[in-house]
Parts: sequence; structure tokens; C-alpha cells
Amino acid sequence: MVLRIVILSFVLQLVPVKSQDKPKLFIGLVVDQMRQEYLVRYQGHFGEGGFKRLMNKGFTFQNHHYNYMPTYTAPGHASIYTGTTPAVHGIVANTWFDKKRQQSHYCVNDNSFNTVGDSSTAGKKSATPLKSSTIGDELKVASAGKSKVFAVALKDRSAILPAGHAADGAFWYSNTGKFISSTYYMKELPTWLSNFNNQEHPKALLKKNWELINKKGAYTNSTQDDHPGEGVLDHEDNSFPHDLIKSSQNLENLGVIKACPQGNTLTRLIAESLIKNENLGKDEFCDFLSISFSSIDYIGHAFGPNSIEMEDAIIRLDKELEAFLTFLDLSVGENQYTLFLTADHGALQVPTLLKEYQIPSGLFNHDLRSDLNKYLTKELGVNNLILAVQNHQVFFNSEAIDSSNVDYKQLSALVSNYVYKLDGVYKILNKENLLIESYSNGLNALVQKGFHPQMSGDLWIILEPGWISHERTGTTHGSPFNYDTHVPLIWYGAGIKTGSSTDRVYITDIAPTSSFLIGSPQPNSTEGNILPIVKN
Ligand code: ZN
Ligand code: ZN
Repeated sequence: MVLRIVILSFVLQLVPVKSQDKPKLFIGLVVDQMRQEYLVRYQGHFGEGGFKRLMNKGFTFQNHHYNYMPTYTAPGHASIYTGTTPAVHGIVANTWFDKKRQQSHYCVNDNSFNTVGDSSTAGKKSATPLKSSTIGDELKVASAGKSKVFAVALKDRSAILPAGHAADGAFWYSNTGKFISSTYYMKELPTWLSNFNNQEHPKALLKKNWELINKKGAYTNSTQDDHPGEGVLDHEDNSFPHDLIKSSQNLENLGVIKACPQGNTLTRLIAESLIKNENLGKDEFCDFLSISFSSIDYIGHAFGPNSIEMEDAIIRLDKELEAFLTFLDLSVGENQYTLFLTADHGALQVPTLLKEYQIPSGLFNHDLRSDLNKYLTKELGVNNLILAVQNHQVFFNSEAIDSSNVDYKQLSALVSNYVYKLDGVYKILNKENLLIESYSNGLNALVQKGFHPQMSGDLWIILEPGWISHERTGTTHGSPFNYDTHVPLIWYGAGIKTGSSTDRVYITDIAPTSSFLIGSPQPNSTEGNILPIVKN
């Protein structure tokens, strides 16, 4: 009997999505820097048509986590859409140390392509460094090119990595106020996008300024507006109302829109224009669109998770979602589309605030390359043994090691001893262990899943919980700890059952589940599970 139930539940989980429940349009929504707890903490502010509609009618995982570090934007977006981790897909950071060229490399920079849409260099980008295929890549191949695949975001990396290699287009925001692309995808912008750009939405949106949407007394979930841990928007102070005309220098600097809720409005507007003009969701070949809401991240870095700015920005994001879902109902049709909503990482509370509650935290700010080279010259009589320290990884200079006959293990031990004496250091893992051992759980496993054999450093410094390398105000993310790994995951739409689960699930489960829902092959290096969310 028990066996029969097990077999039955196994069979039920593998029942394919019924053809009438297959979506015509599949959408991935990523909120850049959203802690899962925002869904709980701000629930009282939500209307019925945004987050609540997704949670009440869709399926929510309340204990969904990243299963690797570093929890940065580029690795996050790459992992969501490939179903694997930086150890395999190769997007090991936003900017990493390129060992061959011995210089920093920004993840999507590519000088072999040119900007499409304005005269800036902001479009010289590609998805070439992404070593794994994405949901959209596989859909494109399996449909013999008939499914349309697009991505939009304010940040270039948050459009390009989700779009993947085979997409029809990825569009991102240039500080000229226009959405642009790269010759990697197309020769010229589609007419609808040129028209969209000519409408100058950024100027109109910035003129509205950033005022609180509710009365100040209603923001009961936040610390005071001028908390000393808060940073500032460009040329502006840290409290409401935020004068965007001033911070944009009279609408000269249109990049300012990225760091306020209007950036999310702009993202919704381009997504809607794209769906309408590219006719997404109109035929039997399922189309795919990735949308990333970048502005919450800029707001979080400046003001922190407990700020009134964050509370207001999430309330406003709820309204953007409501408007977008209403748009989808009309343009694609209710029950004709399926979507997921997640985030690319969470964030730490600002250290100044944590200290008020006696919770350990601190700032780890050192010029480690210079400090270590001075120390090693003194200890070993050899200069420049450290090529770089980036993303808390130490890169040894193999030429200097070879020519001076320095023992690798001795060098490794000396660096570790030096670094372990610094405040805030929890653990140092070395390349040899990360290559040879097979960590199945715990913190070492998270580090290993973020460690790429060819691209990562010789030593990886892990800070204690609550410690970051950051300026005195605001906050950041990147750690293997809960505040950075715990993010929302909601599924909604055609084929999705209603419910919620407290099971611990992982970011790498999103891609195989998405491929299953649209009846497309899984991305080539996916390692996650298909989540049991299909309506029977
Ligand atoms: Zn991010
Ligand atoms: Zn960030």
C-alpha cells in the first residue's frame, strides 16, 4: 500500500502538462535584490491584483534559496535561466579577474560587437561568456526558431544572461535615456522600440519626483527616514521627498531613473510594448520573455532593507505587477500565460542598524593585494606574488612563483595566516580542496558550487555572517548566508496549481520546472529538480 502511494505520487508528479494548460507565453520575472521576507512584512500594504494575486492563485515556495556563493546579480540571473551554478555556467561574478589577460573583466562586455540604438559604448556586449544553454536557447532550438525569445531589464547583464545565446533580442537601458541592444542580437532596433525611445518616458517619469505613495505614518515596517545607516541618491539627501529633478541635474543625467521606483515603471512599459509589438503569445509556439526589475537593487544598496524607501518601492512594485497582470489578461488572455517570480539575491541589513540591536556585523575594507605583497616581500624576498584580490578571491602570480621557486603550499599557508588575523574573516578555502573534495552540504558546498576550475582564484576568503566589503552607509550582498540566499519563488498561470510549500528548494529548480511547463528540453547543464506545481 505504502509502495503504491509512493509510485502513484511519483507518477502524478511526472504527468505532463495538459495541452490546454500549456502557456502561449512564458515569463520569468526577477526582482533585483528582494528578500523573501518582504512578501510577509509588507503584505498589509499589498492590493489584491499584484503579489497577492500571484500568491493566492499560484504556488509559493516560502523556503527557496540560492545554493552557491557569490550571490551577485550576474551569477543570479545566469543560474535562474540555466538551472546550474557558477561552477558550471562560468558567470562567477559581475566582474572577475581574467587570468589569461591579467585584468578585470565585466561579465557581458564584448568589444567584437557594437551598440545598436544610440552612439554610446553601452551596447558592446554579448552572452558569449555564459557556458551553459538557457531555457530560451533550448526553446529556440526545439521549435526550429519559431518560438520568440526576448529579455528586458535596466541592467545589461540582467537582460543578456536571461536571454541567452539564441534570443531574438535583449534590450537594456543606456544612460542616454534609451533602451539599446548589441549587434550580437540584431543590426538595428525594431521600429516599435525606436518609437518607444522617441517618446522620452524617462523624462516624463522623473518629473513626477519620488514622493511617498501613502501617508508617512503608514510606513510602520521601517526605521526612521533619515537613519544614519542610509546613503543618498545622486546629489540629494537621504529622506523624502526625493527631488529627482535635482538629482538628475534638471533631467540631464537620465541614469538617475535606475535608482528610484520609476525605473520599474519604465521596465513594465517596455515589456508591455514588446509583448504587443512582437506579438508574443499569439500562436501555437510558446514564446518566452524575461523581465528583470533592476531598481529595487539600487534602492537597497543606498538605503537598506529596513528603509522607508524600500517599503515604498515594494508597495509601488506591487502596483506595477497588478498593472502588468491586467495587461497580460487583455493582450495574451487569462490562463494563456505562465510566469515565475523570484530574485537574483537578497541583501544584508545595513551594519549600522544591526549594531543598534547588538547583532554582529562589520565592514571588511582592505587593500589586500598591496598589503599581502608587502608582507610576502618581507617574508619570502619575492615581489608581486599576488596578482589580484577580487570578489574576496586571491589570485597568485604563477610566473613569479615559477621564476622564484616559491613553494605553492608555503605561499598559500602564509597568505592564509595573514588573512585569518583580520577581523571578520570566518574561513579560507583553497583551490586544491575545492577541486578535489566533493562537498555535499554545508557552507563548503555553497562555495564549491560558485567555484569555477579555470576562472576562480587560488584562495577564497569567506567573511563571518553580517560582514561586508562596503562603504559606511547602505549595504550589499554576495555571501552564502541566509539574508542573501533566501528569495521569493512564486509560480502562476496556465498549468499551475494553487498552494504553498515550506520545503527547502533551490534556484537551480527554476529552469527544469520552466522547461517542463513549456514542453521544451532542459538547458544543457541543468542540475535541479522539477517542482511539483503542475495542476492535475
Ligand atoms: Zn542583483
Ligand atoms: Zn546589488
